[in-house]
Amino acid sequence: MPRIHPLPELLVSQIAAGEVVERPASVLKELVENSLDAGATQIDIQLHEGGVRLIRVTDDGVGIDSDDLPLALARHATSKIASLDDLERVVSYGFRGEALASIASVSRLSVTSRPQGAAHAMRLRNDADTTEPAALSSGTVIEVADLYFNTPARRKFLKTEATEYAHCSDVLQRMALANPAVAFTLSHNNTVRHRYGPGDEESRTRTLLGDDFFAHARRVDVAAGELRLTGFAALPAYSRSGRDEQYFYVNGRFVRDKLLMHAAREAYADILHGTRYPAYALFLELDPAEVDVNVHPAKIEVRFRNARGIHQFIFHALQRALAAPIGSQAIDMGAESS
Ligand code: ADP
Ligand code: MG
Repeated sequence: MPRIHPLPELLVSQIAAGEVVERPASVLKELVENSLDAGATQIDIQLHEGGVRLIRVTDDGVGIDSDDLPLALARHATSKIASLDDLERVVSYGFRGEALASIASVSRLSVTSRPQGAAHAMRLRNDADTTEPAALSSGTVIEVADLYFNTPARRKFLKTEATEYAHCSDVLQRMALANPAVAFTLSHNNTVRHRYGPGDEESRTRTLLGDDFFAHARRVDVAAGELRLTGFAALPAYSRSGRDEQYFYVNGRFVRDKLLMHAAREAYADILHGTRYPAYALFLELDPAEVDVNVHPAKIEVRFRNARGIHQFIFHALQRALAAPIGSQAIDMGAESS
């Protein structure tokens, strides 16, 4: 029998990266989530070669104390939770303290940051032992270059530049839809491809899903106890041949959850033909203790404590919103759905 030995730290991170860092778009998601967690109001993304050559995310968030820069790249180090209690109440996107360490293990990464009040910015590269002074007026810049340069087996799974770019663009749209007050720009190979000014839910939804969607959309705003469903859902006249315009969020997090999609589908069952897919941007808000976002590191799946109740709520809420006359007010279902 071979003897047992602990794995080197870098290899541990590279294995973890295999789960979370599937492609440039997954890196982008983690970086933008960090910017949002830092309270950014402006987030600028620059991609080169589909994000494989370079992903640079610049934000105006709170920044990172220069003494903490090495910890930002360390595994299991986070500023977002400190206890199991915090974990059950977590409202930030991140909490594992793993993303930057994983990404840093499979790329050339640098973090440059200047928190409020700091005399100047400091930068840390993942291949250096010490921080160095840098030029930045405020906020944080994270650069991820040459993704998978040191793990060629993973690099082989990357698709064409156009495909990787398209995934990055999808990620931006998902994040932008849920954060309408935050301004975003995205450029690819030095060309600006998306620019979203700060707005509200309505203006951001219209920008992202288009006037045609909006012309057929019903506003959804239904509450029952601690559950609330808001957003926009299109009437069947605007339906799709695929799921490409189904945006579902749980406490601000984009999810692709079978239970939620099924409940929505059921709400459309009587009015939408079997081969067509509804289009919607829906936001479910509930007590964080009622939902486990810890199911998967990429956190696209969630688990509800009361799955049946959630299913019923979504179904009734959406069915009502779709049947309500145009321009009708928010609906309070009170206790009737539970
Ligand atoms: P997590 O987000 O789960 O805490 P990460 O590895 O993504 O883990 O980030 C580690 C830490 O680095 C965060 O907890 C945060 O304190 C800091 N950090 C990362 N990105 C930023 C940013 N853009 N602005 C401010 N702080 C950041
Ligand atoms: Mg994070």
